[in-house]
Amino acid sequence: MIPKKKPKPNRPSLPTLIDKADKLTSQYIRQKYADHAGLVKCISCPTVLPWKEAHCAHFIERGKKATRWLEENLHPACPSCNFYRKEIHMREYTLAMIDLYGREALDHLRRAGALVLPASQVRQLAVEAIEYATAKLKELKANHD
Ligand SMILES: [Zn+2]
Repeated sequence: MIPKKKPKPNRPSLPTLIDKADKLTSQYIRQKYADHAGLVKCISCPTVLPWKEAHCAHFIERGKKATRWLEENLHPACPSCNFYRKEIHMREYTLAMIDLYGREALDHLRRAGALVLPASQVRQLAVEAIEYATAKLKELKANHD
């Protein structure tokens, strides 16, 4: 007997949502810090580069879902820092974070990142991140036009 095909679920899979949230959030963060010429400065070195070539660097590693799409946890970085200078990058990133948000906020972020969330909550965060980044990108575009 041929098994009946399962009806397609109406809602997107969690990996699909995470991927979409990552892409939109990254685009938003890089554009948010871009100047009128579309350039951003790396969070951890003096490099200035077009936002499209920059990375969206996570302070708390992106594997931690609770802080994965949190605006305060994300800043543009040059690919060299993000990929090849991990140690210097994280040291400089930490200093920049303290300057930007203060030591206390940093500890708060670290504690938040350490939380392990159930899949349902990750889904909720991803959905919220997609909505937030979409709205913010629209805002940036409106200010640009
Ligand atoms: Zn850099």
